[in-house]
Amino acid sequence: MSSEMPKYYQVATMPTEYSSSTPPPPQSSALPPSHNETEPTPDAQDCSSSEQAASDKSKVSPPRKPLLRLELRDLSSHGARAFLRLVHASAALEDAVDAVLRLLYQNMHTSCIPPTRSVTLVLRDMEGVAYTTGLDLDDDHKEIHLSTKYIEFVPESRQKEEILGVLVHEMVHCWQHSGFGTAPVGLTEGVADWVRLKAGYAPPHWKRHTDCDWDAGYERTGYFLQWLERDHGADIVRKINEALRGCNYEEDKLWHDCCGTSIKKLWKEYKKTVEDQGDKDESSGAGATTDSASSDVTVEEKDDPAQQEDHRTPREKARRGGNMHVPVRPGTSS
Ligand SMILES: [Zn+2]
Repeated sequence: MSSEMPKYYQVATMPTEYSSSTPPPPQSSALPPSHNETEPTPDAQDCSSSEQAASDKSKVSPPRKPLLRLELRDLSSHGARAFLRLVHASAALEDAVDAVLRLLYQNMHTSCIPPTRSVTLVLRDMEGVAYTTGLDLDDDHKEIHLSTKYIEFVPESRQKEEILGVLVHEMVHCWQHSGFGTAPVGLTEGVADWVRLKAGYAPPHWKRHTDCDWDAGYERTGYFLQWLERDHGADIVRKINEALRGCNYEEDKLWHDCCGTSIKKLWKEYKKTVEDQGDKDESSGAGATTDSASSDVTVEEKDDPAQQEDHRTPREKARRGGNMHVPVRPGTSS
């Protein structure tokens, strides 16, 4: 772990230390049986071919269903109480996995998907927002740590959407490729916020930025990736993610292979487009996005009705209460 932690979401590569009150890491006996054991190894597969032609909304299943778990370290904290009141944990985790796999692996062979075996959401009192880490002994077991203090800090009207949005962002880190860790952190964080954006969980304070580099990360890079879809197709982020599978990040090669030009030129063009759009909006008096003058961590008090309502299905609305330490296996319910 680097000594300087980003103030927003963090990705950690070192294992979390376990306190004496913490249950031991998942045992192999607790895992669901392996499926599709005959699948070739990822490196042996060409994922560029489309073997699962399907609509955008179809579900993408990994070769092996991950075990999903929830760990609550302090039931009495306001953040944990809010989580239990607002979020149905099993549905939220399953939906996050579904959204990530659909957006990163649609129309690709399942062997392109990392062999993540379990994802444990740990709610605990900590600084920051959230981070994702792999277990020391087996990186295929992921833990998403989400701060109860942060949940408490979010205005009540935004809490549910924010929890689900952060969950989707962190879930990306459980399933994305990173060129063996050589990809710029800003790119992997940008992919995570691009997925969050596409899944419908962009918070109202997000906006397009051009006063930064392309790999500034988070929504800055996320909106840039969204813009790339316009000229390079809806699967451009899938191509980028795929290019980071099984080989190191090489800037010139990756961007030329995926977009046919350099990242410098792409970013320049994006900046121009956004700035031109901004000028138009200014002269017409209409803002392109909900603005926020504050930092990334700040969550606006403003309510965006579209954000509040669009993504809650009747099923989600009806669900209240939560699960505690209940292993959940996706795909066994509707
Ligand atoms: Zn992240």
